[in-house]
Amino acid sequence: MNHETVLSARGIYKSYHKDKIEVPVLRGVDVEVESGIVTALVGRSGSGKSTLMHLMATLDQPDFGEIHFKGKRIDNASRKERDQYRNRDIGIIFQFYHLLPELSAIENVMAPMMIGRSIVDYFLTRKQIRKQAEAMLDRVGLLHRATHKPSEMSGGEMQRAAIARALMASPSLLLADEPTGNLDTETGHEILKLLSELNQNDGLTILMITHDDSIAENADVCHRMCDGQLENAALSLQAA
Ligand code: ADP
Ligand code: MG
Repeated sequence: MNHETVLSARGIYKSYHKDKIEVPVLRGVDVEVESGIVTALVGRSGSGKSTLMHLMATLDQPDFGEIHFKGKRIDNASRKERDQYRNRDIGIIFQFYHLLPELSAIENVMAPMMIGRSIVDYFLTRKQIRKQAEAMLDRVGLLHRATHKPSEMSGGEMQRAAIARALMASPSLLLADEPTGNLDTETGHEILKLLSELNQNDGLTILMITHDDSIAENADVCHRMCDGQLENAALSLQAA
């Protein structure tokens, strides 16, 4: 099967500045994410994985280098184009879920779709978006917790809600930053199974960031982050 590159980072450099001291984190990273498969980015804590993911999600900008989505450069695109990319083209999930504590599961899933609408549009579309959110909660096995707030959910349930929220706009690509990093082993496996099903059954392309070799080994392609650069891990690269 032929896979095309959907997302690429080329020659990426990124440093942070702390007390006037430059802390180089990424030192010439090149990585490609191909459509239809699960790509893992593995490396020890502090190796710069989240930094790279944030750049690929246009949440931050590289010092040097370029990010391309479907052949188009996006790291220096206008704010409007970057918002559109984040809201429609990709979904993002985080280790700590980033759910709004005062909203129920279904309201959290609906929230990104309600932002930026006029009041009239809000009331016109609310019913339809709620239906869509219910279907998405059902898809991730959380419909029975639709009215629960994050404080009334387990870690696995919160991650399911975050996955449902990330998939509401039907993105083709999911960026997942340590999606099981805060879960017990068994719950983590359930989340990985769900992500694998979304890849296999729904054709969702996934970039999975992890510090865990055993998770990375199950991906179709695995890149290892080391000293601010990527090396292709020998354990990976099975033909997808
Ligand atoms: P990983 O996700 O692989 O654990 P990160 O990308 O979060 O690594 O961090 C890489 C390095 O950059 C770490 O040494 C971290 O302390 C540093 N770092 C991350 N974010 C910032 C920031 N906003 N300011 C300063 N240093 C940061
Ligand atoms: Mg991280």
